[in-house]
Amino acid sequence: MTPRLVLIPLLISMGLANAAAWAQDKGTVDPKPLPPLANPNDPKIGAKELFGRKVLPAAMPTRVLGFYAHGCIAGAEGLPINGDTWQVMRLSRNRYWGHPDLVALVKRLSEKAHKDAGWPGILVGDMSQPRGGPMFTGHASHQVGLDADIWLTPMPNRKLSRNEREDMSAVMMVRDDRLDIDPKVFTPGHLAVIRAAAQEPTVQRIFVNAAIKKALCREARGDRHWLSKVRPMYGHDYHFHIRIKCPPGSGAECEGQPDPAESEGCKPADLAYWFKDSVLHPKPPATPPKPKPPMTMASLPASCKAVLAATDAKP
Ligand SMILES: [Zn+2]
Repeated sequence: MTPRLVLIPLLISMGLANAAAWAQDKGTVDPKPLPPLANPNDPKIGAKELFGRKVLPAAMPTRVLGFYAHGCIAGAEGLPINGDTWQVMRLSRNRYWGHPDLVALVKRLSEKAHKDAGWPGILVGDMSQPRGGPMFTGHASHQVGLDADIWLTPMPNRKLSRNEREDMSAVMMVRDDRLDIDPKVFTPGHLAVIRAAAQEPTVQRIFVNAAIKKALCREARGDRHWLSKVRPMYGHDYHFHIRIKCPPGSGAECEGQPDPAESEGCKPADLAYWFKDSVLHPKPPATPPKPKPPMTMASLPASCKAVLAATDAKP
C-alpha cells in the first residue's frame, strides 16, 4: 500500500464527526504545561506524549523525517505570530512550526492574499509541533512540517488579542445541506487565495471540503490547471489545508507522495462520492469501533528518536 493510500483510511478512522470541530476547538491564554511522564522510555508510550511535551525545535540541521502522517522534523522554523499580512491563531497549541520552505510559503501566500484577494491578510491555523510528530488532537498529518491550515476567514484589519486568537471562530463556508458553498460567505477572494496557494510550484495538494471544490470548479476562470491540486476532503469547511512536496535535497528520508492526477477533478463523477448521502450523513456504526492504540515511536522513523533527544533550539 502506498503512503498516499494509507492516509485516507487514517483520516476516516480518526472520526469524521470530530473533523469539523477540530479547527474550531478553542484554546486558552494560560495553557498548563503537561505533567512529566512517569516512564518516558516505555516503548508502548504514545509518541504524541513525547512530541507534545517539546516546546522548542531540535537544535539540529533541518531534516524532514518520514511521511506526513508518521514522521517528525528536525530544525523546524517558527512562523512569527504576527506579520504585516498574517496572524497566527490558537497560539496555545504551539503548532506554528514547519520546514523553512513552508514558513516562506505561508508568508508569500499572505502577501498574495493581500494583493490578489484584497484581504488585509490571512489567519494561520495549525502547522506542526516544534519537532513535528503526532498530536494529542486534530490531525493525522501535519507531522513533518510540510502541512499548514489556513483559515477561510480573512485576517481582520487589526491585531487580534491573545484571547481572540484562542476564542475567535472561523466562518463556515458550506451550506446547511452540505451540497454547496454558502454564497453569502464564500467570495471571489476565497477563490483567489486558494488559487494563489495551488499555483505555488512546491504545493502538491490542497484539501478543501467537496462543496468548496465544486464551487471552485464552477467559478474558476482563465487558467484552471491549478484545480488538479485541490482535492476534496472531509472537514475543511472552515479552513483549507496546504501540503508541500518534500523540499529539494531532502533525500529518501522524506517520504513524499505522487503528484495528483493532471485532470481538474471537476466532472460530476469525480465529486459524486463526496455528495452521497452516506458520506454527507454517515450513520454511526452499530458497535463503536475500538479506539486504536496511539502511534508509538516504533511507527516513526528511527531517526525521530534523536530529534526528541536533541537540545532545544534557541527561542
Ligand atoms: Zn490540516
